[in-house]
This record gives sequence, structure tokens and C-alpha cells, in this order.
Amino acid sequence: MTNQDDLFKKIVAHAKEYGFIFPSSEIYDGLAAVYDYGQLGVELKNNIKQAWWRSMVQLHENIVGLDSAIFMHPRIWKASGHVDAFNDPLIDNRDSKKRYRADVLIEDHIAKIEDKIEKEVEKGRKRFGDSFNEKQFRATNQRVIEHQHQIDEIHEKYADCMNRNDLDGLKQMILDLGIVCPRSGTRNWTDVRQFNLMFATKMGSVIDDSDTLYLRPETAQGIFVNFLNVQKSGRMKIPFGIAQIGKAFRNEIVARQFIFRMREFEQMEMQFFVRPGTELEWFNHWKEERLQWHLSFGIPAENYRYHDHEKLAHYANAATDIEFRFPFGFKELEGIHSRTDYDLSRHSEFSGKKLQYFDSEINESYTPYVIETSIGVDRTFLAIFSNSFKEEKLEDGSLRTVLSLPVRLAPYKIAVLPLVKKDGLPEKAREIVSILKNDWMVQYDEKDAIGRRYRRQDAIGTPYCITVDNNTLDDETVTIRHRDNMLQERVNISQLPSFFREKIK
Ligand code: ATP
Repeated sequence: MTNQDDLFKKIVAHAKEYGFIFPSSEIYDGLAAVYDYGQLGVELKNNIKQAWWRSMVQLHENIVGLDSAIFMHPRIWKASGHVDAFNDPLIDNRDSKKRYRADVLIEDHIAKIEDKIEKEVEKGRKRFGDSFNEKQFRATNQRVIEHQHQIDEIHEKYADCMNRNDLDGLKQMILDLGIVCPRSGTRNWTDVRQFNLMFATKMGSVIDDSDTLYLRPETAQGIFVNFLNVQKSGRMKIPFGIAQIGKAFRNEIVARQFIFRMREFEQMEMQFFVRPGTELEWFNHWKEERLQWHLSFGIPAENYRYHDHEKLAHYANAATDIEFRFPFGFKELEGIHSRTDYDLSRHSEFSGKKLQYFDSEINESYTPYVIETSIGVDRTFLAIFSNSFKEEKLEDGSLRTVLSLPVRLAPYKIAVLPLVKKDGLPEKAREIVSILKNDWMVQYDEKDAIGRRYRRQDAIGTPYCITVDNNTLDDETVTIRHRDNMLQERVNISQLPSFFREKIK
């Protein structure tokens, strides 16, 4: 097991131990790829959603919110293309009975070749020492060139199979590359089949008469079908956006990596409607603005990167992902897509209703173009939670686990701790709680020695602890302990509201 695997296990265990995330239906042995947010998890998650809503809706005059239903008319998913094309290619191994995504097996194979390249580079670095020129080495080393050539060839074949929907070709690739099942180690593969990721259900009490409904696999379609309602009732002028936070459901074939890939998850999406021809300008604008939002949490910039799509969906004319360095490597956190007029045109066609906008500035009616920003709440949670998790060795040799969450996202901002459970200290501490609790999430804790209570607050990410001691009764001062550097300072009780107003913005 690598250090990173080990770290990830610790993060998952920590999330459970402190009430952030539990496996769903645990007393019934769980439900695959479904999770529940516990008493602290729900606070952190709500704070993430609030931060997004505030930055997108509250701070933009021309973006409004929406909360559309999860159930929608079945034809919506025909129009959007999800019934026909929201598929993953799956393949089973007959010996292990395990199911895989064919594209992921091929990607994992490519990752192994990339590892070989990195090993060559490391060898080179050791051999040449200070004079090592990595760029030149990558461009000229024979082994590296051969590996890269292999990768390019696989990419090309793979893209060709996917574009032509050639499932036999995909299987042949898996056989030709000698890919074995990680579980059984054999090449005893079934054919590749397409698998639709939408969950279907029925509406109505008489099953025979009922229509098949789908649990929405994204929140975006609820925005498109309400485009005219919002535009007209809100007298919105282009360019404008509609934002929505809500649950989405995907029957993922392989759901691994904790809350990174779930079957029930939450999205925060914004569709920005623009005049045709200006879409690439807006695409670049949102690409930059969304990265700035991530950076505003204070997580180092080197943990984020753009991944521009070379192969675009047929309706898109630009697309990029913001990737985050999760404990298991760089992976997609948010997608920014220039979707042209595809969605509104399709809904016009399927509904028979004209979904257009009259632009009084140029005296013209048109179908607006759309820039979409689409981010998973749960992936954002995982990014922030895993980045905040630290084990520190203290001067006295002991270990402290600290969750250095951005202050504005922490479930509790302040803990109030009477030093001992007597002499009127609990009563004084409760008074302080009542002064602060209208403005901030405050926790009162009197159980165990003060050192253990500090550790517990560190582990759940509380940025400030207030300790009430015997001096407090004499001079109305308390100690404030800071989570990240463990420094303590003495502050007058009457100064606490202004102190925290300054610190917690
Ligand atoms: P992936 O390639 O990882 O499956 P995707 O490209 O299908 O993701 P989108 O359809 O662009 O994802 O969805 C937008 C966002 O929704 C993603 O960036 C991600 O944060 C989130 N998301 C998508 N699928 C899941 C899932 N199964 N579990 C958790 N979050 C998800």
C-alpha cells in the first residue's frame, strides 16, 4: 500500500469517526456508493453550498436561482440525448464475475505506461544529478519515446472506437493490450455492452398506465426547460444566468473512491445564456472566475489544474475541467462547457415551444448560446476535507490530528470550554455561548481534561476555542486558542463579538 492509499484510508476513517460521513444503511451492511452526511458533515456541506450560492447568485446581479423538481417529463431526457447516449461501455470478467468500464480498463493501462515513463525519468535524474535536463531527457530518451508512442497509439485507437461506437473494437483493444482482470488475473472477458446510467422508475398508482420516469442525472435540464419562465417573470436581459443546487442520480458501473463517485450525489450548476458569437469570450471568463472561487478557500494553487478537452461532445465548441489533486491523483472536480444552442434548440424541437429571446439592443430574436459551470458538492467536500486533514508531530513527541478547514466552511467556528466543571465556570461559559450563538455556530463542551477537548476541536476543524478559567470570574477575560498554530491570547469578554467579526468573514 502506498502512503497515499494509507492517507486516503485515514481520511475515510476520520470522516466516519467524527460524524462527517457514514456509509448509507450501515446497520444493513451498507448500500454500494451511497453515503449519508452526519451531524458535522451536513454543516460543512451546507457551508460549501452557501459559499457557492453566495458567489454565484448573491454577488451577481444577472444570475438568479432555481429549485426545479427531480421528477421531470420523460421526453426531456429524449430531447437532452440522455436516453440514447448517456451510456458507459461495460465489460465483465467471467472468472471473477466483476464488472468494469471498458474505457477505464484502457485508461488504467495507459496510466501504467505513464508510470514506466516516470520511472525512466527518475532513473535519469539519479544518473545525471545536477546536470539533469528533464525536458531534453523526455524528448530524446529512447525508452521514453517508445512508451509515449505506445500511449499515443492507444489514445488514437480508443478515440476512433468511441466515435464510431465500435464496441467490438473496444473489446479487441482490451484483448490486444493483454489487459487482465485485476481480481482474477485472467483475460476471460465478455463482449462490451452499452449501459445507460439513468435510474428508471414509474409514476402513478396503476403500473400499466404509468409512464417511465428517470431520476435526473444532472440538474441542468431543469434550468433549460425553465429558461422562458425565468427570463420572462424575472425580466432578465441577456447575458444572464440561472443557478441551481440539487440531487442527481447516476447508476455508475464502478463506483469507488468514497464520495468521489456516488450513485446519488449533489450538483451545483449554472447555465449562462449569451448572444451567439460571444460564447467563447464568456467561456474564458467563467473558466477563470470558477478557478478563482476554488482558490478563495486558500488551498495552494498547485493542487488545481485545467484539463482542456480535445475530444468535444458533438454539441460543444469548448470544454475544460478543473481538476484537483485528490489523494488518488488529479481528477475532475468541475466542468465548464460551451454548449452552443444545443439544449434550447432540442427542447424547442421536442416540446414545440419556441425558446427564443428578443434582443432589443440589436433588434433580433435568437436562440441563446449557453456556458455551463457544473460542479459536484460531494467532490468539493472531498477536496476540501482531504486537503485539510493533517497529522502533526508536536514538540513533546505526541501526534495531533487537525482538520485545518477554511474558517468560513468549518462546522463550528467557536468552542466554549470551562476549564473545570465547578466553581461557577460552566455557568460563565454558558453566558458566553449565549452572547455568541446568534451570530456563529458555537459548541459548548465540559467533558474530559482541557487538552483532550482541544484535540477534539482540532479534529473537527473548529478554528477557535474559548477557555473560561478562575480568572475569568475576577476580570472578565478568557483565553482564545487558535487551531492552526495553537497560540493563545487573552481577550475581554465584551471584545469577543468584534474579535470574531474581524476573524470570521
Ligand atoms: P466523470 O468523468 O468523473 O464521471 P462527468 O464528466 O461525467 O464526471 P459531469 O457530467 O460533467 O461529470 O458532471 C459535473 C460534475 O458533477 C462533475 O465535475 C463532478 O464534480 C460531479 N459528478 C459527476 N458524477 C458524479 C458522481 N457519480 N458522484 C459524485 N459527483 C459526480
